[in-house]
Amino acid sequence: EKTMERKAEEKTCPHVLIFPCPAQGHVNSMLKLAELLALQNMNITFLNTEYIHNRLIRFNDSIQALSLTYPKFQFKTIPDFHDEEKHPGFGEKIGDVIMSLSLNGKPYLRDMIVSEVPKISCIILDGVFGDLVTDLASEFGIQLIHFRTISACCFWAYLCVPKLLESNEIPIRGDEDMDRIIRNAPGMENVLRCRDLPSFFRENKHNLSLDKLVVRTQQSFKANALILNTFEDLESPILSQIRLHFPKLYTIGPLHHHLNNTKKTTTTLINSNLFQVDRTCMTWLDSQPLKSVIYVSFGSTTPMKSEEVIEIWHGLMNSEKRFLWVIRPNMVQGKEVLLKELEEKTKERGLIVGWVPQEEVLAHKAIGAFLTHSGWNSTLESVVCGVPMICWPFFADQQINSRFVSEVWKIGLDMKDVCDRKVVENMVNDLMVNRKEEFLKSAMEMSKLSCKSVSPSGSSYDNFQALIWYIRSTNP
Ligand code: UDP
Repeated sequence: EKTMERKAEEKTCPHVLIFPCPAQGHVNSMLKLAELLALQNMNITFLNTEYIHNRLIRFNDSIQALSLTYPKFQFKTIPDFHDEEKHPGFGEKIGDVIMSLSLNGKPYLRDMIVSEVPKISCIILDGVFGDLVTDLASEFGIQLIHFRTISACCFWAYLCVPKLLESNEIPIRGDEDMDRIIRNAPGMENVLRCRDLPSFFRENKHNLSLDKLVVRTQQSFKANALILNTFEDLESPILSQIRLHFPKLYTIGPLHHHLNNTKKTTTTLINSNLFQVDRTCMTWLDSQPLKSVIYVSFGSTTPMKSEEVIEIWHGLMNSEKRFLWVIRPNMVQGKEVLLKELEEKTKERGLIVGWVPQEEVLAHKAIGAFLTHSGWNSTLESVVCGVPMICWPFFADQQINSRFVSEVWKIGLDMKDVCDRKVVENMVNDLMVNRKEEFLKSAMEMSKLSCKSVSPSGSSYDNFQALIWYIRSTNP
């Protein structure tokens, strides 16, 4: 009888396949969504490339224990068709991995869809994969949801490309053209200069050309619904534009906060670090005064030249503020000696580490500002904690995110396209001394709105309820 009951229960319980782009920011946010859905008692299959999964297991004890907490949650892996030795990794060359998965991944996905029990009723696919599973979904009667892990403003900028071409506002005509104002992007008229457009508008060195991105973005039109990791109060003028094209749009972010709020705890998180976490920084932070430290991190992919490291280091030293700086292994190619030297000279006021538990760091009372590359996850994590930012964007949506941080939300300063010790020093002082109150006030206001959005009857909370309802309805 018990088995009968279980069978009946399984019948009403959807099976969701979730497939993120194999890179840190994407895996982080899609795993948060996966856990939120697992808390709703759904069957979850989370698909990683072998390369990513090996790193997840290596650097996060919590991954192995996951199936104990959520018996209906499983990880599956797919090869990415690159040799271990010559692997492009998950940084600048991620375009190569997306390409190889797009070219060779379909048979693996088909096998999975055919063999999974209970039957997969819904796929949540990272939108960067474009039409990878569109045909399979319709062949097997599976509902397809696209998830874009970038900001809504960036997603919208990609959708605006045909309009911008038509009005002759792009392509950008060289370096002298960078400060020209973009006028024909609805919802963000006169906000952007050419230099604030997503990086792929200016160059094509990552095997992710603008053409390809635009085509992939438009393939989301063929999905049954779209999820964005943002919240109404943050990007509402943009979201109303996107809704004109995507009637079934679920904005359910900030997802990490949504999950913490649902679980009412921050201690038993499923971690998804792709690097070895160094927790020594937490004890160091404990001994620093209130809001006295600037946290410096450029995410999981930004490479740095040694000249840039030196400029930023001098800027931080000259600002006379304390700092906690993440420099990933191999981030500055072949410069271990230089880093050791800086670390040695930094000791009294600064700590340089390889990878930190960033959500915890940003929530620490000693943190007063964040010098960031403006990756979307980092931006949201900073918003939630009410930490003002200095933005030094590297690529993708980071250029437009940093513009919104400085000009629209007014919760920080934009340092894009500049790397100069004097500028760093001045900006640190503006954020932490001269204009401290002003930035803290707007950052705290945005933080409150983000908390409201994921609390009962907040917009992200309500949208998530609607999403659950929709996913449940996909079960035959
Ligand atoms: N992160 C972390 N420890 C670090 C640096 C970053 O846990 O030392 C996390 C950070 O919290 C964020 C993610 O890595 O969730 C980076 O994603 P983001 O979208 O900001 O940038 P990306 O790495 O994709 O460029």
